[in-house]
Amino acid sequence: MRLYNTRTRSVEPFEPLRAGEVRIYVCGMTPSAQAHLGHARSFLFFDILRRYLSHRGFRVKYVQNVTDIDDRSINAARETGEHYHTIVDRYYAEFKASMRKLGVLDYDAEPYATQYIAPIQSMIRELLASDHAYAGRDGIYYRVATFANYGKLANRNIDELEAGARIEIDEHKEDPLDFALWKFAKPGEPRWPFEPYGEGRPGWHIECSAMARTLLDPVGHGFDIHGGGADLIFPHHENEIAQSEPLMARPPMANFWVHGGLLLFENRKMAKSVGNFEPLSDLLERHDPQAIRWLFLQTGYRKVMNFTEESIGAAAIGLARVKAAYRGLAPATDGESIAAPELDRRMEAALDDDMNTAAALAVLYDVLANSTPSREDLQYWLGILGVEPNDSWLEEPEAQITADLAAKIVAECNALGIDVDTAALAPETAIEKLVALRDEARRDRDWAASDRLRDALQRCGIELQDSKEGTSWSVAVSSRSI
Ligand SMILES: [Zn+2]
Repeated sequence: MRLYNTRTRSVEPFEPLRAGEVRIYVCGMTPSAQAHLGHARSFLFFDILRRYLSHRGFRVKYVQNVTDIDDRSINAARETGEHYHTIVDRYYAEFKASMRKLGVLDYDAEPYATQYIAPIQSMIRELLASDHAYAGRDGIYYRVATFANYGKLANRNIDELEAGARIEIDEHKEDPLDFALWKFAKPGEPRWPFEPYGEGRPGWHIECSAMARTLLDPVGHGFDIHGGGADLIFPHHENEIAQSEPLMARPPMANFWVHGGLLLFENRKMAKSVGNFEPLSDLLERHDPQAIRWLFLQTGYRKVMNFTEESIGAAAIGLARVKAAYRGLAPATDGESIAAPELDRRMEAALDDDMNTAAALAVLYDVLANSTPSREDLQYWLGILGVEPNDSWLEEPEAQITADLAAKIVAECNALGIDVDTAALAPETAIEKLVALRDEARRDRDWAASDRLRDALQRCGIELQDSKEGTSWSVAVSSRSI
């Protein structure tokens, strides 16, 4: 298996440091606000990576932290009068519910920063003792000048970084690149004692270094994969390396650094300030979570990806093709399975190639078009991709009312002079209104009106079934989106 390593800027053969075991640390959420799909993209990728590593026979230990204290939650707590824990717990519960909908497996460990204050403080003490850190007036800082490899992960040299650093008048720091390990408490802020330096709270970067060391690498020989979104490479991951590696017996901190590409929404970064912010939980109400996964699978994990309503619609159609094929496959009989070795070989070839999920989907489409694997074989590989078939996959899809069909219904209503508040009404409601008007016309034996309404519905691709109980309707097969 080959994987792109940000540390070496090349695709390298992946071998675990300890035989048979892969240790992964992924930077998790700071739940002081709602998550959006951009936050979720790398978590979805690492979920597939760990599933595939398990398929490859490795025992995987997956750690993803929770940054449960930061400026935003403290400020929000001050504004609402709630405890910052209450705010963090609420957002984190929402985030976890979204991850479950997206089919993300539970993590092996989910450390909260505030539960790791002691390991964080002992790491800070070690950095102070070795001159990599110093106490300033408002906090304890990392002394970047003491770490020769600083900037290596991001592939930037110190001069460039100095030039890019925000020039702010900060008499507390020796150098603009130095960053806080410990922030002394201001009045009213949450605080933990730290003798003899002063009570306060940890900085963000040291939390990850300390939790990764405690849970994955107490001996200081490094662990296998450190992951996160590409936006974390600098400064967060650079700082983690600077904190961890001087204290290790055998660096590097992580053998592979793996980063997921950024996600754009209609060509722009999602942000409240841009006005295109949609909480992940809302997005998952509008779209099938499995179709979202399918969309990510279609794109390489390292590429910048542009999320549009068209792209998610296309992904849903692609997934529907696979669902239809799945319904048509027979369950395996007596473990017999002709296509599986071929399917396994081709799927592994795709995923061994730096987790090329787009190629893996192409293999699935091709195998389904040209052979008949058993339902279990297909199910197995869909499971590795995190798109597990469920009972609903065996049901014929509900008729879909497409945007196109909805527009036709509105046009027909307008032509008939029927008042429908299309802004407020779902297309289904407009259809039901037309059906009800036709029923009324039939009761009044106004056959001309009844025919007009039936023809209008037919032009929209709506079929009517009259019975003693009344009239039911459905979307004609030819008009379905799938
Ligand atoms: Zn981190």
